This record gives sequence, C-alpha cells and structure tokens, in this order.
Amino acid sequence: MKTVSEQKVIQYTGTKLNTKGWQQEAALRMLMNNLDPDVAERPEDLVVYGGIGKAARNWESFDAIVRSLKELENDETLMVQSGKPVAIFKTHENAPRVLIANSNIVPAYANWETFHELDKKGLMMYGQMTAGSWIYIGSQGIVQGTYETFAELAKQHFGESLKGTITLTAGLGGMGGAQPLAVTMAGGVCIGIEVDETRIDRRIATRYTDVKTDSLDEAIRMAEEAKQEGRALSIGLLGNAADVLPQMIQRGFTPDVLTDQTSAHDPLNGYIPSKMSLEDAAALRERDPSEYVKLSKASMAQHVRSMLEMKEQGAITFDYGNNIRQVAKDEGIENAFDFPGFVPAYIRPQFCEGKGPFRWVALSGDPEDIRKTDEVILREFSYNTHLCNWIKMAQEKIQFQGLPARICWLGYGERARFGKIINDMVASGELSAPIVIGRDHLDSGSVASPNRETESMKDGSDVVADWPILNAMVNAVGGATWVSLHHGGGVGMGYSIHSGMVIVADGTKDAEARLERVLTTDPGMGVARHVDAGYDIAEKTAREKGVNIPMMKG
Ligand code: NAD
Repeated sequence: MKTVSEQKVIQYTGTKLNTKGWQQEAALRMLMNNLDPDVAERPEDLVVYGGIGKAARNWESFDAIVRSLKELENDETLMVQSGKPVAIFKTHENAPRVLIANSNIVPAYANWETFHELDKKGLMMYGQMTAGSWIYIGSQGIVQGTYETFAELAKQHFGESLKGTITLTAGLGGMGGAQPLAVTMAGGVCIGIEVDETRIDRRIATRYTDVKTDSLDEAIRMAEEAKQEGRALSIGLLGNAADVLPQMIQRGFTPDVLTDQTSAHDPLNGYIPSKMSLEDAAALRERDPSEYVKLSKASMAQHVRSMLEMKEQGAITFDYGNNIRQVAKDEGIENAFDFPGFVPAYIRPQFCEGKGPFRWVALSGDPEDIRKTDEVILREFSYNTHLCNWIKMAQEKIQFQGLPARICWLGYGERARFGKIINDMVASGELSAPIVIGRDHLDSGSVASPNRETESMKDGSDVVADWPILNAMVNAVGGATWVSLHHGGGVGMGYSIHSGMVIVADGTKDAEARLERVLTTDPGMGVARHVDAGYDIAEKTAREKGVNIPMMKG
C-alpha cells in the first residue's frame, strides 16, 4: 500500500503547467520538491529537515495549499500562516503569489513550551528556515556554506587546505550531512558521529560520506591513517556524541578541528540523550516530554563540556549554528561560550559584501538546465577562481536530490546580473523551462540570530530584529514570487527571526524587472545591515557598488 506522502507528493517536471502561471507552478513544484522522499528527511510527517522543520502544517493543509496554488490567478496572493493556507486576496501581477509567516510568537512567550502547546492544538508548525518556505534543495543547500567555513578555517589555521587534519563533528542529518563532504572537499579527514544508522546510510548512498563503522577504535584508526597519508576520507561513526566524546578524551584522542551539528536547537525532537537507544528515546518523548528534555539538555551539557576539554587540548573548536552552547550555559556550564560561533569566526566578511547561499532550481527537472547555468557561472564570474573551483567540484561530487539545483555564494551586484542572464536564457529557449531562484535564510541581511548569524556584531546590535523584517518587506514590495518571515529557525524558539525570498525567472520582461529589483534589494539589505554595524568591508562594498545609505560616514 502506498504511504500518504507517496500518494500526495507528486514531483511535477517538464513544461506543462498544472497551475495558471509559472509563478504559482514554481511554488507548487518547490513545495512538492521539499517533500520529495529523495529530499526530505521524514516526508511522512511533512518534515523536511532540521529537527521538525515542516513544509505544511498537516496533510489537510497540504492538500489545501496544493488546491489553492492550482486555482490561484496571476493577480492573486495566497496567505500561509504556519503551514496552513488562510486567505487568497486580489493583489496585482507584480506582487508575490504567496506570503508566508511561520512559527512567529509574541516575544515574551517565544519559547519551545509555548510552541509545543500551540503545535499540539494544531495552531502552528515549525518552519525552520527553508522547510516552511519551500526552497530546501537537500544537503547540497548547505554544502557550499559548510565548505566555505572549512576552507576559511583551513586558511586561518593550516595554510591552504585541511589536508593532514582530522575534523570531528556530530549529526549527519539533512544539513549536518554536508559536513563530511565539505571536509573531504577541503582535503581533510572527517569523523561524523551519528546516533541513527539510517542517516549514515543515507549519506553514504548519496556519496556525502565514504565509510561507516560502529567501532570508535576503528574510526580513530582509519582517521589517523588517512591523516598520515594526507588522504581525504569521511567516516560515519555510529554512536551518541555525548558518550563518544568523553570516550575519545579517555583514549587521549584530540581532533584538529571540532564542531557539532546535531539538532541541539530542539531538545525534544532534535537531540538524543546519552546512553539511550532511538526506540527508548521515541518512547520517552511520547510518554514524558519534560523528562526527555531534562535528559537531553543534561547530555548536551556533557557534550559541550567535552568540547571545551578538547579545545583545551588544542582542537580548533567552533559552534556550528545549533545553539548547543546556549543550552549548556543554561545547564550551568559557565564557559560554554568560550568557543566562537562559525559566523563571527569565518563567515562575516562575506556577509559584509552581501554574499550568501544563493541557489537556483531547474523547474524542468532536466539536469542539463543546471549544467548550462554552471557554464554561465564559469564564464561570467571567471575572475572568481574560488567560486569557479566550487562549481567544478560541485559538478563532479554533488548528486542532485529531487529537482536539479545548484548553490553558490554570490554577492551584491552578482546576484542581479546572474538573475538577468538566467531570465534571458529562459526567454531564448536555451533553458527548457523557468528557473526558480532563492536562498537560505542564513544570509547576509535576512536574519537576526544572536548566537549565530548576528553573534558578536561590532556595534552590539546582535539581538536587533528589525533587519529581517525590513528585508521581507522590501522583497515583497519588489515582487519576489514568495516571501516568508519566520521565527526560531536554526537555533530554536526565542533565538532568531529570519526571512526568505524566492523568485521565478520565467523569461518575461516583467520577471526581468522583478529580478533586477529583488536580487538587488535582498543582498543590499545585507550590505546596509553591516554598514550600520560599522564594518569596513561593507562600507567599501556600498561605496564601490553605489548602495545608497543615507547616514554612511565618509
Ligand atoms: P536533522 O534533524 O536533520 O539532523 C540532526 C541529526 O543529529 C540527526 O541525524 C540525529 O540522529 C542526530 N543526533 C541527534 N542527537 C544526537 C546525538 N546525541 N549524537 C549523535 N547524533 C545525534 O538536522 P539538520 O538539518 O542536519 O540540522 C542540524 C543542526 O544544524 C540544526 O540545529 C540546524 O538548525 C543547524 N543548522 C546549521 C546550519 C549552518 O549552516 N550552520 C545550517 C542549517 C542548519
């Protein structure tokens, strides 16, 4: 018998429309793509990635969204509240076709307890970042960001690459699964601890991880050997990070680089407590959620304590955006923030130039369309060797999941230029169908997240959340195809506000104008946000590129 997701999730491809226009069609195909079994982590439960990050509130809402998108006129806008379609309004042709708000809770109540209560009552869902905003493209979506992080880390600490080093991490889920591949792309050895064997198998099947073992000794031996030989290798080690790290310390093993990407942002659904089987964890979660959260948080504290100890032993240690330091601090580990987050440590200079994880997807379903756009990057951005190397590496190593897609970090000016080229290629018929262009919410001007993207801002503005709201508003005004405003993505309830945008290049003149506007304002908000915080690189970018910032000095 077919499962519910097999019945309902249909991956539409080709040039035949199932809706009244390409903008609605793009939303429909991307919603379906988010839940494609090759893309989503748990499509049966509408879960795309990142703990319980969902694409729709429940199957009834999913059906209603699909129906609404199929009926939506070219001058109407569908409103989606936490995964449920709630209204359709007549707007105009250049307005967004869909506006989405996910998991937003009045600040004084913005915690997981309130969220779970609302979720249980059927009033809300957790949208994560790209799950509830329908622009998740599988683990590739994070690979380049992860690669950028490791490449910058290598540059700062080891010369040009990670060759001859061992990186230890945990969590090989939807996003975390990108780590082993990114480390090997940077020439290093990776041990990825993962408590769920099916997740390791999935990373091996999609070539994100090379080998697996359930033996700690074997993992260390394989890693040390590869390190000595300067050979890139990724190892999925079956185990619980909270237990394995202390065992490693006992054995005297210290990695060169240390981080973590378990879903620590969500103590109830994202982290498995120490010494617990998956089955026992599932049963306890059901039976006694507060006891589960207690054990889960205590295990995270144990995990972070070990990370701090390994840091003392010399491991270059950083937080990889899951808020595990905050949980440990709340559990009494006073120095939990002694290791930095990855954004201030490695990524912020790129944000200052409006750079971030820009992505595009071939609505045709034809990989050839992506290959042609790859060629454009290699031709038009040939001055950027780092970017061109990335594209070549991605072509060779990245297997598509669901609709063919590509990601690369482009900055202010580059995004608008690339958008126009793609639109022209659709218009001329060089590409077989429209392309949808979007980005992660983890971007230069679209997120306020004091333990992650906006950690340690120069002017102390870490918790100021006006920026993502302005970003969403300007992108909607500019005519993005869908715009979303979320709370709690990445780091969990109470710790972030962020916005998403997706826009279709359908080859029309109207789309050309919309692309020019949105792909300028969107990274432009990133430049403005970092100018306002006093970053020189952002000021230089604004000056060189002519971003109009009324109160910029000089
Ligand atoms: P996911 O829920 O798909 O995967 C988490 C994985 O961790 C699962 O496979 C789970 O089995 C494993 N896990 C849980 N507890 C464990 C334990 N104690 N020991 C070992 N493994 C354990 O989530 P994801 O999409 O991979 O995201 C992971 C985290 O990274 C989230 O907190 C997310 O918000 C964050 N994130 C960071 C970035 C970034 O760029 N830094 C981007 C996206 C997501």
